Amino acid sequence: MDILEGVYKKIDSFRSEIIKMQRELTARPALGPENGGSGEHEKADYIKEQLLLLKPDTLFDIHAPDKRAANGYRPNLVAAWNGSQKKSAIWILSHLDIVSPGDLSLWKHDPYKMRVKGDTIVGRGVEDNQHGIVSSYFAVKGMLDLKQAFPQRVGLVLVADEETGSKYGLQYILKERRDLFKEDDLIIVPDGGNEKGTMIEIAEKSMLWLKFTITGAQCHASTPKKGKNSLFGAATLIVKLNTLKENFNLSNPLFKPPESTFEPTKIEANVPNVNTIPGRDVFYLDCRILPDYKVDEIIEEVTILNKKLARELNLKIDVEAIHRQDCAPPTKADAPVVTILGKAINKVTGLKAKHMGIGGGTVAAFFRYEGLPAAVWSTISPTAHQPNEYCSIKNIITDAKIMATVFLSG
Ligand SMILES: [Zn+2]
Repeated sequence: MDILEGVYKKIDSFRSEIIKMQRELTARPALGPENGGSGEHEKADYIKEQLLLLKPDTLFDIHAPDKRAANGYRPNLVAAWNGSQKKSAIWILSHLDIVSPGDLSLWKHDPYKMRVKGDTIVGRGVEDNQHGIVSSYFAVKGMLDLKQAFPQRVGLVLVADEETGSKYGLQYILKERRDLFKEDDLIIVPDGGNEKGTMIEIAEKSMLWLKFTITGAQCHASTPKKGKNSLFGAATLIVKLNTLKENFNLSNPLFKPPESTFEPTKIEANVPNVNTIPGRDVFYLDCRILPDYKVDEIIEEVTILNKKLARELNLKIDVEAIHRQDCAPPTKADAPVVTILGKAINKVTGLKAKHMGIGGGTVAAFFRYEGLPAAVWSTISPTAHQPNEYCSIKNIITDAKIMATVFLSG
């Protein structure tokens, strides 16, 4: 039997072990302090035990100091198996942390007690990002169980804090141990994609969240001249901000949607009663900006709009960027990681992969800022962060096979 066929068969045989590992991981909630938890320690400890069973040539922790977390740090883990031929490495990065289950009444059962229904497993974290953790683990195990040597060094990186900014996760690792990663390494982040497993994400838009505060003067609704209506100001500004779509209207076919987006989203409560004219309103704009534009250009345009309108309506308008992530330079469409992963997807599923850009916010951006080409991909169910989050066992197995194919491509 051909080597790959043997590895695929081995991976198929892991179904019940995959379910068991998913159950154990789900039972160890890994919530960061911003999400009301104490960190990812329990989950990291369990994974470390499991990794030790695979006898890695290297296994170490990277503790990112965080006073708010248990023991004063956030756990990150690196395990690697040496390669027999090439010097470069293949890295697969998954994240340990989850988001909170949210409104429990929307769950059909305890989110931390995983359920299995046919091919589907349900529980908080099973897809985002335990799917990546488990598929990469069993890809490695499939090779090792068959005593199949890795042509190229293979490393698994398990990080904390992906859901709340990566300051104590990948950003910290890259600050402390940038030497781990080389420009010609293949870096895969199985934390995004589509249901067919054909989407390789190589580029992101910049993200900008703006908070607008409109200050007028509160008064009784029957005497509007005595006050200054901040809600009218907010509404007018929202309409004016729509011109951003015309002024920054470039289209880039890598992305879906292909243009930059500027959407008003959240509005804070103002006055409690109908017969009061509000004197203060706060709303937010979510901007996803194509790499073709600089974030500063947008901010400049918004500032000009604000000043003009503030003068016209005699209101005070303040704007603050509450979140900003300038997009990293995209991974090239012909980068080795994109080509090799595309071939592996085709070999396992028969489908043709396509490279794409997304609205922003994946952890891969931190690799790309460092000039390390990373690809985000997974055969993923669209349930991340939702109640009754689910994941397909078949997809975990398929992804493990694709990863093993990548390991053997060197
Ligand atoms: Zn994720």
